[in-house]
Amino acid sequence: MINLIDVQCPHCGANGQIMFPPIGAIIIGPCPQCNEYVVIFCGQCLAVDKKILNSGQRKAIEEHLFMVLSDFIRDRVEDITNDIVGSENSASSEQNDSTNLPSKRKTAITESDFMHFVQSELNSVDDPQAFRDIFKKNDH
Ligand SMILES: [Zn+2]
Repeated sequence: MINLIDVQCPHCGANGQIMFPPIGAIIIGPCPQCNEYVVIFCGQCLAVDKKILNSGQRKAIEEHLFMVLSDFIRDRVEDITNDIVGSENSASSEQNDSTNLPSKRKTAITESDFMHFVQSELNSVDDPQAFRDIFKKNDH
């Protein structure tokens, strides 16, 4: 039995079916309809820039592909995070994701976050009252 997956070209919207690639495979090729390049990854069809791929510049190609794939992974991680903690912030973060360049990690712990933790929260861990305030149970 041959497993086929439906894919849609992110450039022109053409629909097609491809043989399901081996797990973990990253396949790059041109759309048969518009001839723009796409990358097939985890059953998803992602747009890549043909100009960059044909530029012959190793560094630029590497960075472009990494960006396309990391965008995809970030979206998936965000979905999972929403499942875990709820999606009350999803509206604003979705807007940001589609417009912002994804070069900066929003979730990075800054030095000031760290200092705040060391100076205030870390000291409170031994304080039973503060501990209860932080890890409050909702069942009463
Ligand atoms: Zn296309």
